[in-house]
Amino acid sequence: MLKDKVAIITGGSGGIGKAIALKYAAMGAHIAIVDYAINENTESVLSECKAMGVNAIAYPCNVADAAACKETTEKVIAELGGVDILVNCAGITRDKLMPQMTLEDVDSVIDINLKGTFFMIQSCYRHFLRKKSGKIINISSVAGVMGNAGQTNYSASKAGVIGLTKSVAKELASRGICCNAIAPGFIATQMTQSFQDNADVVNAIPMKRMGKAEEVAELAYFLADDVSNYITGEIIRIDGGMAI
Ligand code: NAP
Repeated sequence: MLKDKVAIITGGSGGIGKAIALKYAAMGAHIAIVDYAINENTESVLSECKAMGVNAIAYPCNVADAAACKETTEKVIAELGGVDILVNCAGITRDKLMPQMTLEDVDSVIDINLKGTFFMIQSCYRHFLRKKSGKIINISSVAGVMGNAGQTNYSASKAGVIGLTKSVAKELASRGICCNAIAPGFIATQMTQSFQDNADVVNAIPMKRMGKAEEVAELAYFLADDVSNYITGEIIRIDGGMAI
């Protein structure tokens, strides 16, 4: 159970982030959705969370902006009474082969996926230290584990998240704070819509199907719950066997 814990979920109105928000709300956590834009998806996550009897507030924030991350985290602490769980799920792709990749393609992916994760952890760091507890869950990718043609920028950002996760875990372990990463394979969301009917993609997955956002949410729940308090610095793949 996550009764009365407070969870920040960046990218919380996207496919995987929404599933995590709903799972955490179902387990009793109050939810702070941190997203670039507040839109109808955000409103629907908030109302579904509130219908489960928890508080849910959306905070528009560009995670690539360090000052905005700090300000947003301070607002969450003031309005929801603290932070117990940070899920870094905001992410983008700008897939191209390397010769076509622009500086903007590289910068935006690194800034949001890697630096955004760094800034959000940094903004919660002292708060977790003072509480002597905290759970940080970073959404990496199998692309960061095994690489992927056409995703050099994205794979680099997600491999960076893995190094960041392990280093943060080492810095904070003695204070009882856990930092782990989830490395999903192909999960059926808006981000992978163009691949969902591609038989070659599905056939390359040993389990011959895409994953569901709800399956990732179950793993994110396990990592947020007290049952996993002795697990830190771990990178858990959820990919139907893709990266075996
Ligand atoms: P999604 O549906 O596209 O959701 C991405 C979310 O990130 C959206 O809510 C988006 O908000 C938010 N976001 C983007 N840029 C942002 C910024 N600068 N600041 C704050 N929020 C921002 O994607 P998804 O499939 O759920 O992916 C979630 C995470 O899982 C990503 O980190 C992704 O790399 C990772 N992942 C996904 C898969 C997969 O197969 N789907 C596989 C491996 C890893 P706005 O709509 O407001 O822009």
